[in-house]
Amino acid sequence: MYDVIIAGAGVAGCQIARLLDDSGLDTLVLEKEKNIRIKDSGIVSSEFLDFFPKYLIAKNIDSMDIVSPSGIEINLSLPEPFAHIVHRESFSGYLRRKIKIDYETVIAAKFYEESVTVLTDKGFHECKLLVGCDGANSVIRNAAGIERPGLCAGIFSRGRKSTGNVTVYMNKFFSPDFFAWHIPQNGEHGLITAMRPAGHMDEFETALGLEQGNLYGAHIPIGLQKSFSSRCLLAGDAASQVKPLTGGGIIFSLKAAKHAAETIRKAAKKNRFDAAFLSSYQKRWLGEFGAEIRKQMMIRNVYRRLPNKHIDQLFSAFKPDFEKIRAFNYDRLSKLCWKLPKLKMLRFLPWLLVR
Ligand SMILES: Cc1cc2nc3c(=O)[nH]c(=O)nc-3n(C[C@H](O)[C@H](O)[C@H](O)COP(=O)(O)OP(=O)(O)OC[C@H]3O[C@@H](n4cnc5c(N)ncnc54)[C@H](O)[C@@H]3O)c2cc1C
Repeated sequence: MYDVIIAGAGVAGCQIARLLDDSGLDTLVLEKEKNIRIKDSGIVSSEFLDFFPKYLIAKNIDSMDIVSPSGIEINLSLPEPFAHIVHRESFSGYLRRKIKIDYETVIAAKFYEESVTVLTDKGFHECKLLVGCDGANSVIRNAAGIERPGLCAGIFSRGRKSTGNVTVYMNKFFSPDFFAWHIPQNGEHGLITAMRPAGHMDEFETALGLEQGNLYGAHIPIGLQKSFSSRCLLAGDAASQVKPLTGGGIIFSLKAAKHAAETIRKAAKKNRFDAAFLSSYQKRWLGEFGAEIRKQMMIRNVYRRLPNKHIDQLFSAFKPDFEKIRAFNYDRLSKLCWKLPKLKMLRFLPWLLVR
């Protein structure tokens, strides 16, 4: 019987396996895709460099444009890079290096008092603890009886690379509930929405005259959820450890992986895999970034209700204030609101409070 089985060799699963490498625990990673499949833009905050070497960064971002429905442009520029575009394939390859992965698709899992049985397309495995890092549509989350979070679709297309700023479009015609983006450095454009993603992509590409290529997509979980049960932990997208304002989950997955690995070491030492003991994992990651997810959810819920006309008025009012900002943390975007003049914000309070 394995001590630990990790389902999914994405960011969260690989990082937990790497952190358990010297633990002496008999660990198995199960992954359904032998070939690395890139499903995101790979934009991360500078905290990425706390975990990984600089050569995994393809481009630095020190300037970003945010565009309103009528074309009002807010430029966020800092003297130092606030985000980076990762060499996404090299990063996934780096994560999988030195980890023993069995390429099997997990189909189901059954939790017993003394063990867990994992059924894959190639057979059965048994373990003391099962870690679900199998993404937004987690099989392990379902098997553990943990409620599914809300899901949005993120889709993108890649064409010719060019120069220019990363640009974010806040326009309800492109995405009624999120935003659309263009990353010239990757030749990438895309959007996130829970409604008609392909139809909105069509409108976005036509309006901006963007090259129409193959579409790639994946689900993005939004909101806080439970991440443990008896003999089970969840991490990464399987646990909705994602920023609700940007859909970014790489840094939060890495942070959660650290808490998961520490909890697993302690659980193994004490031979305690019950829900009460494993609940400390949830407390630890919520303590580090749960409040930010909560605040970003609140801002997102306000944004979802605003019509294009109001978005334009907010852009006009706050453009000079945003453009004066000289420091912010890309993982803590909710804090940007606190940098805006409070009196001016009061003028818009009635819109922001509409339910
Ligand atoms: C369009 C789009 C753009 C994004 N852009 C960014 C961005 O710029 N910056 C950012 O930080 N985040 C971004 N994200 C989010 C980011 O991709 C995720 O938050 C991050 O990859 C989460 O990592 P993970 O390990 O939890 O999941 P994943 O990377 O999805 O890994 C899950 C792994 O589990 C495997 N798996 C799934 N089911 C099974 C099964 N049944 N059996 C075995 N293996 C299985 C999958 O093959 C995969 O390898 C974006 C997402 C999308 C959709």
